[in-house]
Amino acid sequence: MITQQTIKNFNQWYEKEKRDLPWRETKDPYKIWISETMLQQTTSRAVIPFYQKFLQLFPTLQYLAKASDAKVVAAWAGLGYYSRARNLHKAAQLLVEKKIFPKTYEELLLLPGFGPYTSRAVASLAFEQPVGVVDGNTIRVISRLFAWSGDWWKTSGRAFVQAQMDNMVQLSEKPSITNQAFMELGATICTPTNPTCLLCPLKKNCLALKNKNPSAFPSKKPKRQPETWIWRPEIRNFHGLIALEKNKTLPFLKNQWLLPGSGEKVKKRPQKFDYTHTITHHKIFVVTRMLSAKSKAAKYKWVHPQELKQWCPVSLVEKALNVTPSKKGE
Ligand code: SF4
Repeated sequence: MITQQTIKNFNQWYEKEKRDLPWRETKDPYKIWISETMLQQTTSRAVIPFYQKFLQLFPTLQYLAKASDAKVVAAWAGLGYYSRARNLHKAAQLLVEKKIFPKTYEELLLLPGFGPYTSRAVASLAFEQPVGVVDGNTIRVISRLFAWSGDWWKTSGRAFVQAQMDNMVQLSEKPSITNQAFMELGATICTPTNPTCLLCPLKKNCLALKNKNPSAFPSKKPKRQPETWIWRPEIRNFHGLIALEKNKTLPFLKNQWLLPGSGEKVKKRPQKFDYTHTITHHKIFVVTRMLSAKSKAAKYKWVHPQELKQWCPVSLVEKALNVTPSKKGE
Protein backbone atom coordinates (compact mmCIF):
# COMPACT_ATOMS: atom_id res chain seq x y z
CA MET A 1 0.00 0.00 0.00
CA ILE A 2 1.26 3.44 -0.88
CA THR A 3 1.06 5.86 2.04
CA GLN A 4 1.87 9.52 2.59
CA GLN A 5 5.20 8.41 4.02
CA THR A 6 5.98 6.35 0.88
CA ILE A 7 5.37 9.43 -1.25
CA LYS A 8 7.42 11.61 1.09
CA ASN A 9 10.36 9.21 0.75
CA PHE A 10 9.81 9.01 -3.00
CA ASN A 11 9.94 12.83 -3.24
CA GLN A 12 13.21 12.80 -1.28
CA TRP A 13 14.63 10.18 -3.63
CA TYR A 14 13.77 12.44 -6.58
CA GLU A 15 15.32 15.55 -5.02
CA LYS A 16 18.53 13.59 -4.46
CA GLU A 17 18.73 11.58 -7.69
CA LYS A 18 17.08 13.77 -10.34
CA ARG A 19 19.00 14.52 -13.51
CA ASP A 20 20.08 18.06 -14.07
CA LEU A 21 17.74 19.31 -16.83
CA PRO A 22 17.32 23.00 -17.73
CA TRP A 23 13.52 23.16 -17.28
CA ARG A 24 13.86 21.82 -13.74
CA GLU A 25 15.40 25.10 -12.62
CA THR A 26 12.21 27.08 -13.13
CA LYS A 27 8.65 27.53 -11.95
CA ASP A 28 7.90 29.83 -14.89
CA PRO A 29 4.72 28.38 -16.49
CA TYR A 30 5.80 29.58 -19.95
CA LYS A 31 9.10 27.68 -19.83
CA ILE A 32 7.47 24.59 -18.31
CA TRP A 33 4.83 24.65 -21.05
CA ILE A 34 7.48 24.83 -23.79
CA SER A 35 9.50 21.98 -22.28
CA GLU A 36 6.47 19.75 -21.69
CA THR A 37 5.24 20.29 -25.26
CA MET A 38 8.66 19.32 -26.62
CA LEU A 39 9.00 16.36 -24.25
CA GLN A 40 5.92 14.74 -25.72
CA GLN A 41 7.92 14.05 -28.84
CA THR A 42 11.30 12.85 -27.73
CA THR A 43 13.66 12.16 -24.83
CA SER A 44 14.88 14.75 -22.33
CA ARG A 45 18.44 14.68 -23.64
CA ALA A 46 17.31 15.24 -27.22
CA VAL A 47 15.01 18.11 -26.20
CA ILE A 48 17.70 20.19 -24.39
CA PRO A 49 19.22 21.94 -27.49
CA PHE A 50 15.75 22.62 -28.97
CA TYR A 51 14.50 24.03 -25.67
CA GLN A 52 17.51 26.29 -25.25
CA LYS A 53 17.37 27.56 -28.82
CA PHE A 54 13.61 28.16 -28.62
CA LEU A 55 13.97 30.21 -25.44
CA GLN A 56 16.80 32.22 -26.91
CA LEU A 57 14.54 33.17 -29.80
CA PHE A 58 11.39 33.61 -27.69
CA PRO A 59 12.47 34.21 -24.07
CA THR A 60 8.97 35.16 -22.88
CA LEU A 61 5.35 34.62 -23.78
CA GLN A 62 5.27 38.11 -25.29
CA TYR A 63 8.17 37.35 -27.65
CA LEU A 64 6.46 34.17 -28.81
CA ALA A 65 3.10 35.90 -29.31
CA LYS A 66 4.69 38.67 -31.42
CA ALA A 67 6.76 36.35 -33.66
CA SER A 68 5.61 35.34 -37.14
CA ASP A 69 4.07 31.90 -37.64
CA ALA A 70 6.90 31.00 -40.02
CA LYS A 71 9.58 31.90 -37.46
CA VAL A 72 7.93 29.75 -34.78
CA VAL A 73 7.57 26.78 -37.13
CA ALA A 74 11.21 27.18 -38.27
CA ALA A 75 12.37 27.11 -34.62
CA TRP A 76 10.49 23.83 -34.25
CA ALA A 77 12.29 22.21 -37.20
CA GLY A 78 13.62 18.79 -36.22
CA LEU A 79 10.97 18.13 -33.57
CA GLY A 80 8.19 17.09 -35.97
CA TYR A 81 4.45 17.51 -35.24
CA TYR A 82 4.46 21.10 -36.49
CA SER A 83 0.84 21.60 -35.49
CA ARG A 84 2.19 21.72 -31.92
CA ALA A 85 4.36 24.73 -32.79
CA ARG A 86 1.39 26.49 -34.41
CA ASN A 87 -0.80 25.80 -31.39
CA LEU A 88 1.91 27.12 -29.05
CA HIS A 89 1.92 30.30 -31.08
CA LYS A 90 -1.88 30.64 -31.09
CA ALA A 91 -2.11 29.96 -27.36
CA ALA A 92 0.66 32.50 -26.64
CA GLN A 93 -1.29 35.16 -28.54
CA LEU A 94 -4.46 34.36 -26.59
CA LEU A 95 -2.63 34.43 -23.25
CA VAL A 96 -1.02 37.78 -24.01
CA GLU A 97 -4.41 39.16 -25.03
CA LYS A 98 -6.02 37.87 -21.81
CA LYS A 99 -3.06 39.12 -19.73
CA ILE A 100 -3.31 36.08 -17.46
CA PHE A 101 -1.79 32.59 -17.37
CA PRO A 102 -4.44 30.17 -16.02
CA LYS A 103 -3.37 28.15 -13.00
CA THR A 104 -5.61 25.09 -13.23
CA TYR A 105 -5.62 22.24 -15.72
CA GLU A 106 -9.36 22.72 -16.31
CA GLU A 107 -8.73 26.28 -17.59
CA LEU A 108 -5.54 25.39 -19.45
CA LEU A 109 -7.37 22.60 -21.28
CA LEU A 110 -9.41 25.27 -23.10
CA LEU A 111 -6.33 26.71 -24.84
CA PRO A 112 -5.17 25.57 -28.31
CA GLY A 113 -2.77 22.63 -28.09
CA PHE A 114 -3.23 22.07 -24.35
CA GLY A 115 -4.24 18.41 -24.12
CA PRO A 116 -4.75 16.44 -20.89
CA TYR A 117 -1.00 15.85 -20.49
CA THR A 118 0.25 19.41 -21.04
CA SER A 119 -2.55 20.98 -19.00
CA ARG A 120 -1.90 18.78 -16.00
CA ALA A 121 1.88 19.05 -16.31
CA VAL A 122 1.81 22.87 -16.37
CA ALA A 123 -0.83 23.15 -13.62
CA SER A 124 1.05 20.79 -11.37
CA LEU A 125 4.69 21.69 -12.11
CA ALA A 126 4.20 25.46 -12.19
CA PHE A 127 1.25 25.96 -9.81
CA GLU A 128 1.24 22.83 -7.58
CA GLN A 129 -2.28 21.79 -8.54
CA PRO A 130 -2.65 18.21 -7.16
CA VAL A 131 -3.36 16.50 -10.49
CA GLY A 132 -1.44 13.48 -11.77
CA VAL A 133 0.41 13.50 -15.08
CA VAL A 134 -0.07 10.55 -17.43
CA ASP A 135 2.65 9.89 -19.99
CA GLY A 136 4.55 6.84 -21.25
CA ASN A 137 6.73 6.75 -18.15
CA THR A 138 3.94 7.03 -15.60
CA ILE A 139 1.82 4.48 -17.49
CA ARG A 140 4.69 1.99 -17.24
CA VAL A 141 5.41 2.62 -13.55
CA ILE A 142 1.73 2.48 -12.53
CA SER A 143 1.12 -0.68 -14.59
CA ARG A 144 4.03 -2.41 -12.84
CA LEU A 145 3.26 -1.12 -9.34
CA PHE A 146 -0.26 -2.53 -9.60
CA ALA A 147 0.57 -5.46 -11.93
CA TRP A 148 -2.17 -3.97 -14.10
CA SER A 149 -2.50 -5.28 -17.63
CA GLY A 150 -5.38 -3.11 -18.87
CA ASP A 151 -5.60 -1.41 -22.27
CA TRP A 152 -3.80 1.84 -21.36
CA TRP A 153 -4.28 3.22 -24.88
CA LYS A 154 -8.08 3.17 -24.48
CA THR A 155 -10.09 5.84 -22.64
CA SER A 156 -11.02 3.45 -19.83
CA GLY A 157 -7.38 2.36 -19.39
CA ARG A 158 -6.17 5.97 -19.34
CA ALA A 159 -8.81 6.74 -16.71
CA PHE A 160 -7.40 3.97 -14.50
CA VAL A 161 -3.84 5.31 -14.74
CA GLN A 162 -5.07 8.88 -14.28
CA ALA A 163 -6.97 7.91 -11.12
CA GLN A 164 -3.87 6.18 -9.68
CA MET A 165 -1.63 9.13 -10.50
CA ASP A 166 -4.17 11.56 -9.00
CA ASN A 167 -4.19 9.45 -5.79
CA MET A 168 -0.38 9.49 -5.59
CA VAL A 169 -0.16 13.23 -6.09
CA GLN A 170 -2.93 13.89 -3.59
CA LEU A 171 -0.90 12.05 -0.95
CA SER A 172 1.91 14.49 -1.57
CA GLU A 173 2.75 17.85 -0.07
CA LYS A 174 4.46 18.75 -3.36
CA PRO A 175 2.49 17.60 -6.42
CA SER A 176 5.13 18.98 -8.78
CA ILE A 177 7.83 16.83 -7.18
CA THR A 178 5.74 13.65 -7.07
CA ASN A 179 4.74 13.91 -10.72
CA GLN A 180 8.35 14.51 -11.72
CA ALA A 181 9.51 11.66 -9.48
CA PHE A 182 7.23 9.22 -11.33
CA MET A 183 8.42 10.47 -14.71
CA GLU A 184 12.05 10.31 -13.58
CA LEU A 185 11.65 6.79 -12.22
CA GLY A 186 10.19 5.66 -15.55
CA ALA A 187 12.96 7.35 -17.52
CA THR A 188 15.90 6.12 -15.47
CA ILE A 189 15.07 2.99 -13.44
CA CYS A 190 11.70 1.55 -14.39
CA THR A 191 12.74 1.47 -18.03
CA PRO A 192 10.83 -0.41 -20.77
CA THR A 193 13.35 -3.26 -20.78
CA ASN A 194 15.50 -4.48 -17.89
CA PRO A 195 14.25 -2.19 -15.12
CA THR A 196 16.82 -1.86 -12.31
CA CYS A 197 14.40 -2.82 -9.56
CA LEU A 198 17.15 -3.16 -6.97
CA LEU A 199 17.65 0.60 -7.07
CA CYS A 200 13.94 1.44 -7.16
CA PRO A 201 12.59 3.61 -4.31
CA LEU A 202 9.17 1.93 -4.72
CA LYS A 203 10.35 -1.68 -4.83
CA LYS A 204 8.61 -2.62 -1.58
CA ASN A 205 5.30 -1.50 -3.09
CA CYS A 206 5.63 -3.09 -6.51
CA LEU A 207 3.33 -6.00 -7.32
CA ALA A 208 5.04 -6.76 -10.63
CA LEU A 209 8.36 -7.20 -8.82
CA LYS A 210 6.67 -9.33 -6.18
CA ASN A 211 5.33 -11.54 -8.99
CA LYS A 212 8.78 -11.49 -10.63
CA ASN A 213 7.43 -10.26 -13.96
CA PRO A 214 7.92 -6.46 -14.36
CA SER A 215 8.60 -6.85 -18.09
CA ALA A 216 5.08 -8.21 -18.60
CA PHE A 217 3.75 -4.68 -17.93
CA PRO A 218 2.39 -2.51 -19.41
CA SER A 219 0.41 -4.59 -21.89
CA LYS A 220 1.38 -4.23 -25.55
CA LYS A 221 -0.59 -1.82 -27.69
CA PRO A 222 -1.72 -3.49 -30.96
CA LYS A 223 0.22 -2.08 -33.92
CA ARG A 224 -1.57 0.08 -36.49
CA GLN A 225 -1.77 -1.49 -39.91
CA PRO A 226 0.75 0.14 -42.30
CA GLU A 227 -0.81 2.18 -45.14
CA THR A 228 0.66 2.74 -48.60
CA TRP A 229 0.15 6.19 -50.16
CA ILE A 230 1.09 7.86 -53.42
CA TRP A 231 1.69 11.60 -53.18
CA ARG A 232 1.98 13.60 -56.41
CA PRO A 233 3.38 17.01 -55.49
CA GLU A 234 3.55 19.70 -58.15
CA ILE A 235 6.57 21.94 -58.14
CA ARG A 236 4.99 25.12 -59.55
CA ASN A 237 7.64 27.63 -60.38
CA PHE A 238 6.85 31.27 -61.15
CA HIS A 239 9.95 33.37 -61.79
CA GLY A 240 11.90 31.45 -59.17
CA LEU A 241 9.07 31.34 -56.59
CA ILE A 242 7.58 28.02 -55.48
CA ALA A 243 3.84 27.53 -54.79
CA LEU A 244 2.69 26.13 -51.45
CA GLU A 245 -0.76 25.09 -50.36
CA LYS A 246 -2.21 24.08 -46.96
CA ASN A 247 -2.71 20.34 -46.75
CA LYS A 248 -6.41 19.69 -46.18
CA THR A 249 -6.68 16.20 -47.63
CA LEU A 250 -3.71 13.99 -46.76
CA PRO A 251 -3.95 12.27 -43.35
CA PHE A 252 -0.31 13.05 -42.53
CA LEU A 253 1.08 16.60 -42.05
CA LYS A 254 -2.47 17.93 -41.75
CA ASN A 255 -2.92 21.70 -42.10
CA GLN A 256 0.72 22.20 -42.94
CA TRP A 257 2.08 24.07 -45.92
CA LEU A 258 3.05 21.55 -48.58
CA LEU A 259 3.58 21.56 -52.32
CA PRO A 260 0.20 21.49 -54.06
CA GLY A 261 -0.81 18.18 -55.58
CA SER A 262 -2.85 15.12 -54.82
CA GLY A 263 -2.51 11.91 -52.90
CA GLU A 264 -4.28 8.60 -52.60
CA LYS A 265 -4.19 5.48 -50.50
CA VAL A 266 -3.31 2.45 -52.61
CA LYS A 267 -3.14 -1.29 -52.13
CA LYS A 268 0.17 -1.82 -53.95
CA ARG A 269 3.32 0.25 -54.21
CA PRO A 270 3.63 1.97 -57.63
CA GLN A 271 6.23 0.71 -60.07
CA LYS A 272 7.66 4.17 -60.72
CA PHE A 273 8.31 6.80 -58.09
CA ASP A 274 10.96 9.40 -57.26
CA TYR A 275 11.51 8.58 -53.59
CA THR A 276 9.81 7.19 -50.54
CA HIS A 277 9.18 8.69 -47.14
CA THR A 278 7.61 7.29 -43.98
CA ILE A 279 5.45 9.22 -41.52
CA THR A 280 4.13 7.11 -38.60
CA HIS A 281 2.34 4.15 -40.28
CA HIS A 282 2.14 5.87 -43.70
CA LYS A 283 4.60 4.64 -46.30
CA ILE A 284 4.59 7.36 -48.97
CA PHE A 285 5.71 6.89 -52.57
CA VAL A 286 6.37 10.28 -54.10
CA VAL A 287 5.96 11.11 -57.79
CA THR A 288 6.96 14.72 -58.44
CA ARG A 289 5.86 16.91 -61.31
CA MET A 290 7.55 20.14 -62.43
CA LEU A 291 5.28 22.91 -63.71
CA SER A 292 6.28 26.29 -65.01
CA ALA A 293 3.37 28.46 -63.83
CA LYS A 294 2.04 31.12 -66.24
CA SER A 295 0.75 33.33 -63.46
CA LYS A 296 1.08 33.79 -59.71
CA ALA A 297 -2.24 32.18 -58.77
CA ALA A 298 -3.64 33.80 -55.62
CA LYS A 299 -4.77 30.49 -54.11
CA TYR A 300 -1.14 29.57 -53.41
CA LYS A 301 1.48 31.00 -51.11
CA TRP A 302 4.55 31.82 -53.22
CA VAL A 303 7.90 31.51 -51.50
CA HIS A 304 11.52 31.73 -52.49
CA PRO A 305 13.23 28.29 -52.32
CA GLN A 306 15.58 29.68 -49.64
CA GLU A 307 12.56 30.50 -47.42
CA LEU A 308 10.95 27.12 -47.96
CA LYS A 309 12.21 25.66 -44.68
CA GLN A 310 10.47 28.41 -42.74
CA TRP A 311 7.12 27.38 -44.17
CA CYS A 312 7.38 23.62 -44.51
CA PRO A 313 10.43 22.33 -42.68
CA VAL A 314 9.73 18.68 -43.49
CA SER A 315 12.17 16.51 -45.36
CA LEU A 316 9.29 15.15 -47.46
CA VAL A 317 9.14 18.52 -49.28
CA GLU A 318 12.88 19.14 -49.30
CA LYS A 319 13.40 15.79 -51.03
CA ALA A 320 10.78 16.69 -53.68
CA LEU A 321 12.79 19.74 -54.72
CA ASN A 322 15.95 17.71 -55.01
CA VAL A 323 14.73 15.01 -57.39
CA THR A 324 14.79 15.15 -61.15
CA PRO A 325 11.14 15.80 -61.92
CA SER A 326 9.38 13.08 -63.85
CA LYS A 327 7.45 15.48 -66.10
CA LYS A 328 7.96 19.02 -67.30
CA GLY A 329 5.78 21.73 -68.83
CA GLU A 330 2.17 22.82 -68.42
S1 SF4 B 1 10.31 -2.31 -8.59
FE1 SF4 B 1 10.99 -2.46 -10.69
S2 SF4 B 1 9.14 -2.75 -11.88
FE2 SF4 B 1 8.52 -2.05 -9.88
S3 SF4 B 1 8.29 0.14 -10.12
FE3 SF4 B 1 10.35 -0.23 -9.37
S4 SF4 B 1 11.63 -0.40 -11.20
FE4 SF4 B 1 9.50 -0.57 -11.83
